[in-house]
Amino acid sequence: MKYISTRGQAPKLDFADVLLAGLASDGGLYVPETLPQFSQEEIASWSGLSYAELAFKVIKPFVDTCIDDADLKRMVDETYAGFNHSAVAPLKELGTNEWVLELFHGPTLAFKDFALQLLGRLMDHVLAQRGERLVIMGATSGDTGSAAIEGCRHSDHLDIFILHPHNRVSEVQRRQMTTILADNVFNIALEGNFDDCQQMVKDSFADQAFLNGLKLGAVNSINWARIMAQIVYYFSAALAVGGPHRPVAFSVPTGNFGDIFAGYLAKQMGLPVTQLVVATNRNDILHRVISGNDMSKGELVHTLSPSMDIMVSSNFERLLFDVYDRDGDAIRDLMARFRTEPVQLEAARWEKVRELFDSACADDETTCQTIADVYAETGYLLDPHTAIGVKAARECWRDRSVPMITLATAHPVKFPEPVVKAGLESPQLPEHLHDLFEREERVDVIDNDLQAVQAFIAAHVHRD
Ligand SMILES: *Cc1c(COP(=O)(O)O)cnc(C)c1O
Repeated sequence: MKYISTRGQAPKLDFADVLLAGLASDGGLYVPETLPQFSQEEIASWSGLSYAELAFKVIKPFVDTCIDDADLKRMVDETYAGFNHSAVAPLKELGTNEWVLELFHGPTLAFKDFALQLLGRLMDHVLAQRGERLVIMGATSGDTGSAAIEGCRHSDHLDIFILHPHNRVSEVQRRQMTTILADNVFNIALEGNFDDCQQMVKDSFADQAFLNGLKLGAVNSINWARIMAQIVYYFSAALAVGGPHRPVAFSVPTGNFGDIFAGYLAKQMGLPVTQLVVATNRNDILHRVISGNDMSKGELVHTLSPSMDIMVSSNFERLLFDVYDRDGDAIRDLMARFRTEPVQLEAARWEKVRELFDSACADDETTCQTIADVYAETGYLLDPHTAIGVKAARECWRDRSVPMITLATAHPVKFPEPVVKAGLESPQLPEHLHDLFEREERVDVIDNDLQAVQAFIAAHVHRD
């Protein structure tokens, strides 16, 4: 299996190189040259498998021969054995044919653990084979940082530096990062905002001389392996409600378009999916593109669903690449224009997007109202991101005989504010985190200055 860039000018790479590369050298994102195809019979034959066994089946063709089957199997088994639910990704029924897929039973209580728990192991394995080291650098406003740190803390061949805006992440989210005391984990609290953190990371990727020979790797969702790992739960959920013989629909709380893109890929690989609903908060550019062919950046607003406060969804480029018949030149041109001006897709291309996706958006008030409504109807407590998904599902659901599955992307304990606003009692931390507020923290507060950050990193990386 080879991987190509959405902008058509970077070299083709195999899985192991894509895993370590992050962004392609032409500024594009890597996608598989061809997708594996699974027949209905083959998918049906997986119905008795455990989550880890299913994950191996789905992931194997993408990894190809880069990692031995036995090693891949072991890493997948270890990854999902670390989840706190025997089904790994259990389904809960809200009403007739209406489901939520709980993706928050990993160590940091958000769906990002599904990919990042595996990514850390895969990277460590490939680096060990090559006798190399890698420096992971990332910016976070909350969920990604803790999931990435949890995923990398046991890796012998990489150091991870996560920047978060000082005093601007919630205490639960900060403590999930800063209480990991492994000696390859570094938390930088930057005296700045999230955009400053992100800019530091971008500038550092563009010029890596400060690392004196070491290389940077990425763990945000431009990394192909994250998308790959997320394809699995679309299959597991469909199988659990009668697929592939029965088609299913999904609603996905969306920010960077990584999670829903994995659902699109599951469909392209043969899973019968009738609807994919993109659910956004007030940062609704994706909803505007899908419903009205209006791809224009708005002003970023802060909402009660902060993990979806994103204006430029990097993974949307991967979809556009397919919609433009994999024409890298066209995508390069489109993305260059989008940097500076609002763009429209060619009419026929936009039609394709419309056929593939439905969309809806919800503001903070609607989010809280949905949390309250669903709790009153069912006794089930939604986190704000999931609430937006459920709301969008109800708005867009075309055929009520088709099961509609909303991805529950986080545990409500991570985002107590909207729950309290909805008039409900704030939820309890689960057992494995009950002493989070007593644990020792380690964090370095650093000035909003690129040189200072880079000097800190250079002084703390391990070199052999
Ligand atoms: C990251 C995240 C999202 C958005 O997922 P994308 O793949 O970026 O679209 C939604 N909800 C939660 C809780 C998240 O952490």
